[in-house]
Amino acid sequence: MVEVKGVDVEEISRRYEVEAKLIDPETICVEDWVRMKCQFGCGGYGARLTCPPYSPTPSQTREIISGFKNALLIHSHNSRKIKEAVPEIERELFLKGFYKAWGMGAGPCNLCDECDIDAGCRFPRKARPAMEACGLDVYATARANAFPIEVVTSKDQEQNHYGVVLFE
Ligand code: SF4
Repeated sequence: MVEVKGVDVEEISRRYEVEAKLIDPETICVEDWVRMKCQFGCGGYGARLTCPPYSPTPSQTREIISGFKNALLIHSHNSRKIKEAVPEIERELFLKGFYKAWGMGAGPCNLCDECDIDAGCRFPRKARPAMEACGLDVYATARANAFPIEVVTSKDQEQNHYGVVLFE
């Protein structure tokens, strides 16, 4: 198991009611095709500052990830838990001295009814792009780290949502 001094993963998991795991950032899968799913097939494209085309491109994301030695992959069946936990965990790690800490969440930001693209983000402390909005293959990343994820075919099926916080 990966360990980082000063980071108590079990305690973080308990407090945020998520399942967190320290992972090697090299197991995070970034693919160019992921952005195509946002651009062609998602009605939210361009509607939120946390989504493409405003979020980091896959090339930028690869570069960003290569600048980190550690990552905390965070799992929940509830996407809201991920959206709330990621910026808080990012801040906690920053305050512990991991000054580069930066996180990506799950799904489009829904903090405002409408995102004012021209005015800038109203909640910059809380709004983070989704993993997939930055080009992460969430399925491959979860599976590479022994977390569950399957394509769901109905709203009644249990869903698996993920976020990640990079730090060193
Ligand atoms: S917090 Fe509001 S303004 Fe910022 S990205 Fe989310 S919806 Fe847009």
